[in-house]
Amino acid sequence: MAKKALIIGVSSQDGSYLADLLLEKKYKVIGSIRRSTTTYRENIGHLLGKIQIEVADLTDFESIACIINQHQPDEIYNIAAQSVPADSWNHPYYTGEVTGLGPVRVLEAVRHFAPNARVYQATSREIFGNIAAESATEKTPFDANNPYGIAKAYAHMMVRCYRESYGMFACGGILFNHESPRRGLHFVTRKITAAVGCIKNKHKRPPLDELGRPLIDKKGKVHLGFLDAQRDWGYAKEYVEAMWLMLQNKKPKDYVIGTNETHTIRELCEIAFSHVGLDWKDYVVSDTKLIRPTEIKELKGDYSLANKELGWKPRTSFKKLIELMVDEDLKRFG
Ligand code: NDP
Repeated sequence: MAKKALIIGVSSQDGSYLADLLLEKKYKVIGSIRRSTTTYRENIGHLLGKIQIEVADLTDFESIACIINQHQPDEIYNIAAQSVPADSWNHPYYTGEVTGLGPVRVLEAVRHFAPNARVYQATSREIFGNIAAESATEKTPFDANNPYGIAKAYAHMMVRCYRESYGMFACGGILFNHESPRRGLHFVTRKITAAVGCIKNKHKRPPLDELGRPLIDKKGKVHLGFLDAQRDWGYAKEYVEAMWLMLQNKKPKDYVIGTNETHTIRELCEIAFSHVGLDWKDYVVSDTKLIRPTEIKELKGDYSLANKELGWKPRTSFKKLIELMVDEDLKRFG
């Protein structure tokens, strides 16, 4: 019989790639979205009719418990979150509710209604915050320094707690940044590739940036924050394979997933603009309004345990990833 998987937050970048992967593997896929007055969600347009959609909100235990009880999934992936670290300073309570307590609602619902289900929780590199280390492993201490990272650290520890206290098969995937053409527009990678798409095509109505202003200003420039910020960026399509592999493991465990290399936002701009024959310095402005109150340190994701035990490793180079995102945004804003 086909395995059944529930993806909480299927409209996300990762949720939609994970649904693609699980359908390829012949799972029956149930995907939850949250209630909204708009029904169209770009990332899952191609999935409609192929997966079963349910409505659930991480702030509402009953909605989560009902779908878990009704469907009795073999595997549950909690992908949903208030997922924007920069926004978490403006919404610390809400971030705690959704990103911190939301996963506990999932764990409690599983404990009561589907105790044999295997659970994946989307943890983040932000739990390490400003730690003074070159690269992070599963043993690196947490040093989260923003409300998002702190909420993710709490959820991650609750996963561990449920695993150890109740013997549940629950894993935390400590994922470093991962990107794709399905990435939200308020994340810097996609913001840059969308800007290249709009500038190159002389697009008349660019989308809005995270402050509600047109992505391209009247002088034809895109506004970014701290250009020397460094991140370990990988390809989301490959990262969802790691999520699935964690739940096929013999024992539940947490794994770091990254590329073990970092790049600056400057380098990202250079690759994205030069891919279409433009010089990024003519189009990028560093805007103090977009600088985070606290930055996180450069840190690489040491994925050696995942490589050894799950056989997972990243395959797409940083340059190739940014170029494929630019190519998609050239089409989208063409
Ligand atoms: P997205 O930002 O693309 O999506 C977030 C999802 O959460 C959306 O589907 C959103 O729904 C849903 N959501 C938000 N609030 C609620 C709520 N109250 N109840 C139910 N659903 C809600 O995420 P990504 O695909 O980028 O990331 C997936 C997960 O991995 C997230 O938990 C993120 O924090 C974490 N993560 C991501 C990293 C990355 O680099 N991408 C790195 C490390 C961790 P809607 O579509 O309605 O907005």
